[in-house]
Amino acid sequence: MDKKELFLQIEQMEERLGSTLADLGSLKKQLVLLMEENHRLTNENQQFRKLLKKDASNEAKHQEGKETPVIGEGYDNLARLYYEGFHICNIYYGHLRNEGDCLFCLSFLNK
Ligand SMILES: [Zn+2]
Repeated sequence: MDKKELFLQIEQMEERLGSTLADLGSLKKQLVLLMEENHRLTNENQQFRKLLKKDASNEAKHQEGKETPVIGEGYDNLARLYYEGFHICNIYYGHLRNEGDCLFCLSFLNK
């Protein structure tokens, strides 16, 4: 193998390594995004589970007292959902509120 050929081979290898490194970088970015999404979904899931537990215990109380549903209960549920930290507006419904109060939700509640 002459020196020129050796040099060419090394250059090609360098190119391949460069593109592999770029691939690795983009995979790493995707992984970060997935980890963030996973974190967000885990939080959401925990909140939903808490709500489900509360709903179940409320349901049990309702059964004991034989209470009939009152008008406005739907509104109360939405208001509670909002104060538990979820969006109830059309735009982000069911998503966790990470940024504090949401103007869309508030205007919906004040209707
Ligand atoms: Zn909202």
